[in-house]
Amino acid sequence: MHATQNHELPSFFGYLRKVFHFREAVARLGDGRQDPDISPQTVFLSLFHGFVFRLSSFLQLEADLAQPHLQHCTEAPGAFGNDVLRYSLASFTLEPLEQMLVNINRRLKRNKALDPGRVQGRVVAALDGIEVLSSFSRCCEFCLQRRVVSLDEQGQPVEQIQYYHRLVGCQVVSSPVKPILALEWVRPNEGEDTAALRLLHRLPEVYGSRFFDILLLDSLYAQTPVLQLAKEIDWDLVITLKQENRTLYQDAMACFKAAHPTINSPKSMATTLLKHNSGRPRSFPSPRSIRNRCGWCARKSEKQNGTTDRESVSRRPSSRNGCGLQR
Ligand SMILES: [Zn+2]
Repeated sequence: MHATQNHELPSFFGYLRKVFHFREAVARLGDGRQDPDISPQTVFLSLFHGFVFRLSSFLQLEADLAQPHLQHCTEAPGAFGNDVLRYSLASFTLEPLEQMLVNINRRLKRNKALDPGRVQGRVVAALDGIEVLSSFSRCCEFCLQRRVVSLDEQGQPVEQIQYYHRLVGCQVVSSPVKPILALEWVRPNEGEDTAALRLLHRLPEVYGSRFFDILLLDSLYAQTPVLQLAKEIDWDLVITLKQENRTLYQDAMACFKAAHPTINSPKSMATTLLKHNSGRPRSFPSPRSIRNRCGWCARKSEKQNGTTDRESVSRRPSSRNGCGLQR
């Protein structure tokens, strides 16, 4: 067993500066306030401190920020209240933050931090949606809405409009380091699959087409445009199908019966099942691969091919939601 290494905050920030050019990235951050006493850089570094130490509230962070050594670390001129954090965040410029995320993820890839845990040499990413905010009283122009029925004090049903936000995210899930690659908000009057398609179009633009190899997704996103895009980019797909009477599931099972998966090389692990099947599934045109359960398929085909390589066992990432997006 490896001994746990202890790092202190200065060495951690030194590592960030050296490997991820953290100082330059933070310098590019900004918000919409005019001549603020507390700079956006200090706001970000303070929030970063709260994130690293998993502080549960801005009040807790405010208490920490009263310490002179933390003011020094965050380049703050003195203690400041959590209202400063709120004002700054309300107008924070998102583009430099997104660019920072992309640069850090690219550096992780270049430094081979995503290599451990690869499945037959392939990096696996997951796509999934989560809800992040909801309110019965506050809303903005980008809020989604739904009707919620609850019981009042007399036990009578009362219908209210609830406002909420939902996003679709893509995250690398095969490596011990699991970076979020990108997020896309679901807009009013559109489906989650539309936001997912927008996100998937953006990923190769910012990361290149070979940043990851296998994409896990729920059947909700397995629409023709997504499957076509995956084929164009040459991502292999692992789709979780939850309702066994769905057409897609039935088509997939028909393909599985028609031909057993074959493995020619680690790179071509995702078998082109449809090659062996003269018929085409009705729901989508020529996807490169369909799998219902990646772990099951890989182990089954492993037995058939006599593969003993430990890495060839497809591992399904731990998940609290569908196909593996960590929350
Ligand atoms: Zn809103």
